[in-house]
Amino acid sequence: MPISVLWFRRDLRLGDNPALVTALEAGGDGVVPLFVLDPRLWDAAPPPRRAYLAGSLRDLSRRLGATGLHVVAGDPAREVVGVARRVGAASVHVAGDHTPYGRRRDTRVSDALGEHGVALVRTGSPYAVAPGRVTRRDGGRYQVFTPYYAAWLEHGWRAPARDPYDAAWVSPGPPTVEVPDAEVPYGLALPVPGEVAARRRWDEFVADGLGDYATERDLPGDDRTSRMSVHLRWGEIHPRTLLAGLGRGPGSEAYRRELAFREFYADVLDQRPDSAWDPWVPAFASMAYDTPAGDLEAWKEGRTGIPVVDAGMRQLLAQGWMHNRVRMIVASFLVKDLHLAWQHGARHFAEHLVDFDLASNQHNWQWVAGCGTDAAPYFRVFNPVTQAKKFDRDGTYVRRWVPELADVSTRWVHEPWLLPDPPASYPPPLVDHAEERREALRRYEEIR
Ligand code: FAD
Repeated sequence: MPISVLWFRRDLRLGDNPALVTALEAGGDGVVPLFVLDPRLWDAAPPPRRAYLAGSLRDLSRRLGATGLHVVAGDPAREVVGVARRVGAASVHVAGDHTPYGRRRDTRVSDALGEHGVALVRTGSPYAVAPGRVTRRDGGRYQVFTPYYAAWLEHGWRAPARDPYDAAWVSPGPPTVEVPDAEVPYGLALPVPGEVAARRRWDEFVADGLGDYATERDLPGDDRTSRMSVHLRWGEIHPRTLLAGLGRGPGSEAYRRELAFREFYADVLDQRPDSAWDPWVPAFASMAYDTPAGDLEAWKEGRTGIPVVDAGMRQLLAQGWMHNRVRMIVASFLVKDLHLAWQHGARHFAEHLVDFDLASNQHNWQWVAGCGTDAAPYFRVFNPVTQAKKFDRDGTYVRRWVPELADVSTRWVHEPWLLPDPPASYPPPLVDHAEERREALRRYEEIR
């Protein structure tokens, strides 16, 4: 029996890993656990993501026992072929990657392997239902979430894959490189990376948060969401594992629906890779936006003078994560109050989110900006103060992230500029929301 290679990418786990199961079946004499530090991805990754990834790779390596993870650096088309040939592998196993770059890279690697008679075998994907699987009756793809969701539920998904207790890991020997020692940027508190941490967090959430998820998920002050996004992003846990842990109550229903959003956006990006940076609705290409200046910097640094916006932006810098409700509020503020193109915000999120996912990020931004799939009607403009009063009723979230307002009473904490004597250390609002709302609608009328 030959040796096979398991090439890890966005699936940094051993449990519920269908590509690993296939690699084990193909590699009777053992499996080489391989990771390629691809300069196209590693060099472009901002420090928070690098630091998290390095931690996750180290965790995976530890879990592989004495063999450890075999890490090489360079162009995957050369490096994967090099390792496969060195060990005489007949096949290299991966989970399908549906991102625009991942698809191009895998075609190149498959071709390069093919020249040496080695197969690139794709098994599974980072999704319960891979992009392209759920189609309309006429074979077309879904572009609206609600019917996609119904079809996704009807399609269903497989049970989690078996755990690899019998894995015989083998090392191809040197040369190998160390997992880089990527430093955590100063002041950033990252979650514990790795499969064990992901499973532990999931078990805690099922025991303690899932039951109330439908009602609590929108309240940033309570911080009761699952925090699974970063683990899903790196494949430290598979969505099928999560789906298998859900039941029938309202919390489970709501959670299933959120996971389906992640799958829907992956499907949508797969349909139109250009939608990563171009508006899904073409008319928005001619929308009039302002040229960013100091206002973009104020937004990035959490100095807009709108407490809930500043709280969100500061949470992003401090944790590499932001609560979903607040992501919507800060995104709406950037596009409809500051009149800046959504791509500026999406780029900033990409630099700081450790759960950054091209499909979820770009399409959520497009949804907020009104130019995406089932776009929020452009005229529905989030009022940040009303949102804050509704979802952060007692101001817990704002006070946590904006210490200048720690002593402001609940009545004024979301609009401190109305106080007779506002805190001097906190800036006045950058814009007047009512005025900017009118301006946003005026610009929208121009492209309608
Ligand atoms: P939970 O509420 O516990 O949700 C469970 C899981 O469902 C999440 O982990 C995620 O995988 C999925 N999910 C929930 N909401 C959404 C959604 N709106 N779209 C897609 N999937 C969802 N999510 C990312 O994973 N990466 C991103 O880069 C990203 N960028 C975003 C940008 C903007 C402007 C907005 C509005 C949302 C973005 N989201 C992104 C979606 C959402 O905010 C995060 O998935 C969520 O906040 C993660 O926290 P959680 O795991 O505790 O969420």
